[in-house]
Amino acid sequence: VRLTLDEGGIIREVAAAASPEGATRLAGAVVPGMPNLHSHSFQRAMAGLAERAGPGEDSFWTWRELMYGLVAVLAPEDVAAIAAQLFLEMLRAGYTAVAEFHYLHHDRDGTPYAAPTELSDRVIDAARRVGIAITHLPVLYARGGFGDAPPGPRQSRFLNDGERFLRLVAELRARWREAPDVAIGIAPHSLRAVTPELLDEVLRGLGADAPEAPIHIHIAEQQKEVEDCLAWSGARPVAWLLDHAPVDRRWCLVHATHMDADETRRLAGAAAVAGLCPTTEANLGDGIFPAERFLNAGGIIGIGSDSHVAVDPAEELRLLEYGQRLTRQRRNLLADGPGRSTGARLYGAALAGGAAALGQPAGAIAPGCRADLVVLDTEAPSLAGKAGDALLDAWIFAGARAVRTVLVGGRAVIRDGHHAEGEAIAAAFRRTMRRLLPRLSA
Ligand SMILES: [Zn+2]
Repeated sequence: VRLTLDEGGIIREVAAAASPEGATRLAGAVVPGMPNLHSHSFQRAMAGLAERAGPGEDSFWTWRELMYGLVAVLAPEDVAAIAAQLFLEMLRAGYTAVAEFHYLHHDRDGTPYAAPTELSDRVIDAARRVGIAITHLPVLYARGGFGDAPPGPRQSRFLNDGERFLRLVAELRARWREAPDVAIGIAPHSLRAVTPELLDEVLRGLGADAPEAPIHIHIAEQQKEVEDCLAWSGARPVAWLLDHAPVDRRWCLVHATHMDADETRRLAGAAAVAGLCPTTEANLGDGIFPAERFLNAGGIIGIGSDSHVAVDPAEELRLLEYGQRLTRQRRNLLADGPGRSTGARLYGAALAGGAAALGQPAGAIAPGCRADLVVLDTEAPSLAGKAGDALLDAWIFAGARAVRTVLVGGRAVIRDGHHAEGEAIAAAFRRTMRRLLPRLSA
């Protein structure tokens, strides 16, 4: 198969059984690179640190305490060093684009930086340095809980009112309008963190200028969040959002974990993406997304690595299927029919949903899509003798360390597992961690 690209790395032609003359050969099985639809890059620095039992009942809410401790110490250069290492790990694992749900806006005491885009710039620059495409989603965060609860002091780095938030978004959009590998959207943090009035204000403010911008929100991650939302509004979170916001294909509902049958059907019909982060949801004890029911209703899914306890699309997809198997005591629940490959169904679904959630021309080897490609090593023992969908099943379900070469926009960013700046980026990350960790436990 011969791919012809334009100067911007967009695929113009796909020709099967074409002459190889003059072409660059990609040695292995080539699949589209996976968009990662949910990342908080700074949280990579605390992966593995929250695995000791807390006092009393340990839960998401005790994990959040550690996260706030990290937020309290991060300087701009730390944010940059952590993001660069993380984005490099993403490329090596087969992610070629990332949606960064970015809520660190201000300095450690909550004072705005001289440049309001200071920390956004650090994250976007890290992505461009490493070579991963990015959809940057500045987070709107204003309240400390349902019912207009005031924010706490440890949330001060996240806070903006509608006007200041829209200025931040407009500035980032103007700066990156021409870049083929950067998109700008927005992320109202959750129904806990914005009021209905503020959500309205920001959606209206965005509307005229950016009618296609991606909109991501955390929605129903925890049972307590559902109960608090019911107490506040009488409705469950997904139902509330569908009733009060213009949810359509621009939207990604991250952690739509807790939905009843009616919400599942309605969200599938809205053509919004359900953003699933199976390893983080397992790590935090969130619950299990009703994937079989949602996919059967025509729902759109994508995957994200969120808190980055794992950085591997194959691991997310495997755990997504295994969660269904363990609760239903059956196998291959997410394949789309007898004899069909579960790996191919999940990989294809996550490509399409991920590209939609990021608002980027990605997720397929087809004219008009960016040439974001992953070359699987068909010499890896676990892939030997396999072809077609069996390669995806082996990558996802047989623990094959199969990613060899990765291209973003037609440019090889990982060659045989290596990145040109890999050593320098890892060294900076190690220095950052050695400086930060003693301050976290202090
Ligand atoms: Zn998140």
